[in-house]
Amino acid sequence: KLSKRLSKVAEYIPEGSILADIGSDHAYLPCYAVIKGKAKNAIAGEVVEGPYRSALSQVKRSGLDDRIAVRKGDGLAVLETDEATCITIAGMGGGLIAKILENGKDKLGAARRLILQPNVNADLIRIWLINNGWELKAEEILEEDRKIYEILTAEKGEPLKPYDGADKDAGILFGPFLMKEKNDVFIQKWEHEKEHWERIAAQISRGIQTEETAARKADMLAQIKRAEEV
Ligand code: SAM
Repeated sequence: KLSKRLSKVAEYIPEGSILADIGSDHAYLPCYAVIKGKAKNAIAGEVVEGPYRSALSQVKRSGLDDRIAVRKGDGLAVLETDEATCITIAGMGGGLIAKILENGKDKLGAARRLILQPNVNADLIRIWLINNGWELKAEEILEEDRKIYEILTAEKGEPLKPYDGADKDAGILFGPFLMKEKNDVFIQKWEHEKEHWERIAAQISRGIQTEETAARKADMLAQIKRAEEV
């Protein structure tokens, strides 16, 4: 059975996709997507030997060798040009996900949809999407095993559209859809972050004051204010 987090990612895979799951590890997601008929075929990419082997054996065990290619390599380098119509990258930091997309731009030609699940720093992905002509279409935030995850779905389009009529910087940090919806998990996440920033600000106040610490404290207070407003 797939985790709640990966099931949610799978919900966004369009039916009939040629799916590329990058950083696939055990290849649970592509196996599930093919079995459920969401993906016609899939590629599971892995850069590390251990997870690559575990993907290979999972695909074999599921009898899906003819539908899922397991490939070893860095990010989108495992793909042919114009191969994948849907790309999933899940379970890493937003910085790494953005870097994988940036380094593999030439492999996105056939991609109709990106489904990205950062564990932290979703803002870095939103910035990359804006800079590269991808429009956020949906966002999810969910909790599983006491961890909070975000899922961002994007398609080629008007990258600034989701931020229309709102504070763009706040949208980048909190997520334009998530900050509108404001569900319980969202509130929980940002209250927790706010407490963290408050602790840092208090620590700075107790220490030696320099220009640098003053700037850092001002930054924390601005973050706190913004979170309170949202
Ligand atoms: N995607 C799965 C999930 O969400 O459950 C696995 C997440 S696992 C924590 C992250 C995986 O990404 C690791 O197996 C790691 O080896 C792989 N990875 C990290 N950087 C990568 C890169 N540049 N290219 C391909 N895989 C990468």
